[in-house]
Amino acid sequence: FLPHLVAAMEQVEETYIMVKPDAVQRGLVGEIISRFEKKGFKLTGLKLFECPKELAEEHYKDLKSKSFFPKLIDYITSGPVVCMAWEGVGVVASARKLIGSTDPLQADPGTIRGDLAVQTGRNVVHGSDSPENGKREIALWFKEGELCQWTPAQAPWLRD
Ligand code: GDP
Ligand code: MG
Repeated sequence: FLPHLVAAMEQVEETYIMVKPDAVQRGLVGEIISRFEKKGFKLTGLKLFECPKELAEEHYKDLKSKSFFPKLIDYITSGPVVCMAWEGVGVVASARKLIGSTDPLQADPGTIRGDLAVQTGRNVVHGSDSPENGKREIALWFKEGELCQWTPAQAPWLRD
């Protein structure tokens, strides 16, 4: 009974992580990818990509009414981004913790934004805020055939 309950709680999730244009320009791509890689999550998709305006607007559609929306779309489409899909138990909430608060000045040291950024308008990385949005955003940013299903060699050393 209990093992089944535990297994049910340990649902594998996916999250969409994006290195934003400022971080690409600042040479922080490897640093940001390595935070998730070192933690032990599984990379299932990765590409450098110039985001069309329509895609940026769809991705951030919940923020359409905000005054900063046009600036946000300009920011995200201002240069290449690195699109990533990551998979793992608890990956959505854990990635948000690794990323830190939206405002980098409020983000804890040790988090990506806390260590690498100073302003909300240039906060270097995106992470999905729920498992549902993780699925939605991966489907939005990746085409079929761009994602890889594989078993990392380290898998038995990360979970019992
Ligand atoms: P996130 O989930 O932590 O990325 O934050 P939100 O979903 O609230 O906002 C999405 C993104 O919009 C943020 O990461 C910022 O890039 C941008 N953003 C949010 N609030 C502001 C703001 O007040 N000003 C500006 N310029 N950008 C903002
Ligand atoms: Mg958000």
